[in-house]
Amino acid sequence: MSESSHADRALISVVVPLYNEEENVRPLVERLDHVFKEIGCGWALVFALDPSPDQTRQRILELLDRGYPIRLITFSRRIGKPLSLLAGLDHARGDACVIIDADLQDPPELIAEMVEKWRQGYKVVIAQRVSRRGENYFYLKCAQLFYWLVERISEVQIPSISTAVIPFDRDPRFTGKTQISFMGAVNIALDGIIPFSRAPLRLMFVLGLVYIFLAKGTGIAWLIYRIATGFSSNWPIIVLCLILVGAAGLIVACLGVLGEYVVRAYEEARNRPLYIVDEIIESKALSSKPLQGGNRSVDYPER
Ligand code: UDP
Ligand code: MG
Repeated sequence: MSESSHADRALISVVVPLYNEEENVRPLVERLDHVFKEIGCGWALVFALDPSPDQTRQRILELLDRGYPIRLITFSRRIGKPLSLLAGLDHARGDACVIIDADLQDPPELIAEMVEKWRQGYKVVIAQRVSRRGENYFYLKCAQLFYWLVERISEVQIPSISTAVIPFDRDPRFTGKTQISFMGAVNIALDGIIPFSRAPLRLMFVLGLVYIFLAKGTGIAWLIYRIATGFSSNWPIIVLCLILVGAAGLIVACLGVLGEYVVRAYEEARNRPLYIVDEIIESKALSSKPLQGGNRSVDYPER
């Protein structure tokens, strides 16, 4: 995005990844419309839609007909939130970009404050959740652990340019339930850690060393004990067995960590498009202006 225009003539793109959000899109668009009327600058919505079995696409088309500035991008298959978001960013244009979920968990009204910070010259403005209503305790603890871990083991500072942070309380979903499964969340968390840190690999190495020393130490202690007391009781053998069984588990776990890196290197090496765009439908007002898309996708012609 160009950094030049911080004036009221600015155009801000709002990128929304969606999957099964038929009940949420209309309230979202109406609240965004209200927010941008207050801010008083141009805006465009980029809906990045994972093909949904419900009426989300239909609802978006209705909103488009009602004259909201919308660009709808649909993918060939469900690609998940992170990639939908990326594709949405690839297809966004204007002076700045806001990303927001469709379920109204993140209040659109915060955008006014974010734009204010951006106008002050910050290049990145982060709305930071300080509380999350409507999410279960286990999920909250996992999220906390994830952010704590990322902060400690990441090798690059995220983010790394001039950044303002606006704390906020996260609301419960407007309607529906979360679209991201537990394994989906684990994948997103791993994608947040693995590419930014070699610490898990190093930890494997250190754990391996610890096990070697443990095994050797116990072996030596056992030998000394036996020399002193005579070779009769068999408890140290049991300790050794436990260490061996533990070591086997450790090796398998370490291979798993290695696998997480290998699979990402493999994905990268295959160099396949990250997503395939099935269709792009947009308001007339938007189609007159060129896309500032990336080259990560294959665009199919409009149907
Ligand atoms: N989402 C998506 N593709 C998916 C799953 C979710 O685009 O496969 C969207 C979803 O519609 C929402 C956002 O990603 O706008 C966050 O999803 P959700 O609210 O389910 O996640 P949570 O808030 O529980 O992390
Ligand atoms: Mg949500």
